[in-house]
Parts: sequence; structure tokens; C-alpha cells
Amino acid sequence: MPEIPTNLLEVIRYYSDEQRCIDLIASLRWPNGPLCPFCGALEGERKHYWFATQKRWKCYACRKQFSVKVGTIFEDSPIRLDKWLAAFWMVCNCKNGISSHEISRDLKVTQKSAWFMLHRIRMALRNGSLVKLGGEDGGPVEVDEVYIGGNPKNKHQCKKEALLALDGTGAVIQNPKYKNKTGHGTDKVPVFGMLDRETRKVRAQVVPQVRRDVLMNAILENVEKGSKVYSDSYGGYKSLPELDFIHDTVNHVNEYVRGEVHTNSIENFWSLLKRGLKGTYVAVEPFHLDRYIDEQVFRFNNRATKDNPLTDADRFALAVSQITGKRLTFAELTGKVPPSN
Ligand SMILES: [Zn+2]
Repeated sequence: MPEIPTNLLEVIRYYSDEQRCIDLIASLRWPNGPLCPFCGALEGERKHYWFATQKRWKCYACRKQFSVKVGTIFEDSPIRLDKWLAAFWMVCNCKNGISSHEISRDLKVTQKSAWFMLHRIRMALRNGSLVKLGGEDGGPVEVDEVYIGGNPKNKHQCKKEALLALDGTGAVIQNPKYKNKTGHGTDKVPVFGMLDRETRKVRAQVVPQVRRDVLMNAILENVEKGSKVYSDSYGGYKSLPELDFIHDTVNHVNEYVRGEVHTNSIENFWSLLKRGLKGTYVAVEPFHLDRYIDEQVFRFNNRATKDNPLTDADRFALAVSQITGKRLTFAELTGKVPPSN
């Protein structure tokens, strides 16, 4: 694999040469040499013909031509590869994420293009791992639900006021009656998360409702049976032992931690997610929330730890290596047609 620069300034300088962008992407998607996307012919004894001026290969077997962008999130994009790679670097390595306004300003693309780029990048960041969390010999898995969003600007004035009350001294406080008002009747979106405390990997997704069957399905899909699962005392988790999980709860009314039974790690992830959403994105439409979550999950699961000292360049290479087999058209993104994958 070609060498990868170590900071954003170097990334911008280094990849201003289009050939270096092509070399990097080709080496990450085809570690064994370019593979024809039409007939699958791999380079070996015979090489594909390289048209240096058009920056395309011609397949030695089927004679069709292909570029490095074919079959990736870059396909059909008029944006130059150096801008794409710089955007990848920024998204992977800015702790709280980056807004389309910043991308637009820094990379000199329109805000609409920047917004579309960000969504395609988030698609690449999406975890496709089929390895489940936990396991009988594995670490405990913390599960938790959270409600995200709800732009206060969208709330009716009377609703906003209903959430307030006066305390004994006449000061305005949050009405204790509505202190835990989330979910039903609000415009917040429920998100469900699972975190393996041993591997420090998290999975999170928007769920249609916080209901027993929805949560159980998500856990069955993502967590190995026989795992220890820690949750709060929400009744929806009660059937976990019937499904062969070892279940323990903390009751948040009077305790937060009981020995190793707690959900602090997943709650730490929620606060990172909320901070990122609050600081960078003015308002997230529920429709796009899943992609913002994918982005934060990628950064969380690939952050540097003592056991796994990943660098900014490692995270960047990993993200760029995930560009294939994923496409997202503008019509899909704006909800005009259902996504094709
Ligand atoms: Zn071919």
C-alpha cells in the first residue's frame, strides 16, 4: 500500500496529484491488483491496459473500460478525488464530526454537494460486521435506549411552557412532572445501542419504537446467546433470560452502579453522540439520523486504545477501504426512491 500522510495539510498537498488518489484507492479496494468490475478478470500473468491520459483500465478479457471509481460511492460523482479524500480524512478524524458548511468552505464545493458527500461517506463508514458482541467467554454487553433530536424550535409555545414550572422561590425550573418526558408525544427519535465492554465496540441504530419485540430482535441480531447483558430496569428487557441471555439490571431511580452491573459505557457513547449532533448539526431530520449514528459509531469503534493504537492515517485507510459495493443516489438520499442496499 502507498504511504499515507499523517495530517490534513499533508493529505491535501499529497493528494492534489490525481494519480496518487487513484493509486491509494486502487490499492485499498484491489490489494491483489485491479479486478475488472464487468467480468471479474484479475491481473496476474496478464495485465489490464492502462490509459494514462484517461486514467482508465481496459480489461484484457472483456475489453471494457473501467475507472477506479466504478462500483464505489464515488461513482458518477463529478467531485475530484482529492476533495473526496480530504473530506474522508476530516470526517474520520474530527472527534465531533464535521458539518456540510465546513466541508463546503474548506474544499470549495457547494453546500448541497458537501451534504451529499457527507452522506456517501457515512455510508462507507457503516459497519458491515457480522461478528456478534459478547459471548459466553466474552465481556458483558450493556444495552440501553435513548431519545435523540426534537428541535425545541419546532415545539409549540404552549408545549414548551408545559415543560416548565415555578419552584418554591419563584424561579423557573423544569416541571418535575415532565422531567422524564421522552418518546410518546414528543418529536424525539428512539435509538437503541449495545456495547461490548471487553472489545469496547458499540452498535447503535434508530428503532421504530422502544418495544419489547423490537429490542429483543436487535439483541438477537447483534449479541451472542449466553452473554451477560446489563440494562436499566425497563420492563421490555424482562424476556432476556428466556432467550438464553444472563440478564442483570440497575434501577436508575435509586442506584446507578452495582458492582460491575452498570450501563455507564453505553451512556458515555450516548453523550458523545449527542455532543456531536448538537455541536455540528443544527437539526437532524429523523430520516438521516441513522447515518449520523453510523459516523459516530465508526469513530468510537476505531478510536485509539492502549491495545489498539490506531492512528489518524489508519482510520482514514480503513474508511476508504469500505467504499465499494455501496451506492447512494441523490434521489435515494432525499427519500424519493427507497435505498437500493
Ligand atoms: Zn472484464
